[in-house]
Amino acid sequence: MSENYDQSHLDRKYFVNREKYNCPFCNRKSIVYGVSERFSFDWSNDRTVYGYRVHCGGDTCQKTSLHLSNYAIEVYSNKFWSVPGKDDNGKKITISMNDIDLDTLFFYHQPTTFFTLDNRINEKIRTLVAESEGCAKMNYLVGASGCLRKAIYELLEIEQVSKTDKDEKEVDYGNRVKVLKSKYPTVPPEYFDALANIQGMTSEQLHEGDWKPWTQDEFRFLVETAKEVLTEIYVRPQEKVGVLQKILALKPQKDNSKVPKSE
Ligand SMILES: [Zn+2]
Repeated sequence: MSENYDQSHLDRKYFVNREKYNCPFCNRKSIVYGVSERFSFDWSNDRTVYGYRVHCGGDTCQKTSLHLSNYAIEVYSNKFWSVPGKDDNGKKITISMNDIDLDTLFFYHQPTTFFTLDNRINEKIRTLVAESEGCAKMNYLVGASGCLRKAIYELLEIEQVSKTDKDEKEVDYGNRVKVLKSKYPTVPPEYFDALANIQGMTSEQLHEGDWKPWTQDEFRFLVETAKEVLTEIYVRPQEKVGVLQKILALKPQKDNSKVPKSE
């Protein structure tokens, strides 16, 4: 039911559907885009990559972004139209863009998916998370891990989770996350537990090489967890207020008379 009210998850995508995208330049949501060019190049001896130049359809914007994909997406009438695929029996088929989440087809965007995190989240954290995802997409996991670590430490700073306790004793990373967890009882505790258990977070001042970077799978899990925590803390409560206000606005005016007191 609530999905009918709240469509804000669409604001966190790059491509909303076959017709529309969220422009990273003018920040207009769900605006018409156009594919101005498709090209391909050899990423390596055995890998071909497809590039797409996409422009904003906003009358005052018209800026162009770059998107890289492993897929030769068919462009028709300046829109991403379909993509060649295979069915369960290995037979070649054409998959319509209406049946696929376009964002899953790309591994790199410039500008990055900065806005895929709601702008109610602190900008410094958003930038770090976007950078970490950018690094991961380029398979640079040392950079990805480093940026995500910084983002989590930044979150602890912003939330004023102290590095020392009452007796001026140092509080370690895991316990700082526990403090944050107790501050937000409405956020599922599993998310905080996952963050608290991240390997290699013992010291904020670790240098590259002092710790093992995460694998792609570990990184994906941790970055999605961190994003969910950020969304739960800074976005969902506000969305709920928004829905409440919308509903209250629907309340018939006549109902504003005093509620009769029960005897
Ligand atoms: Zn635009």
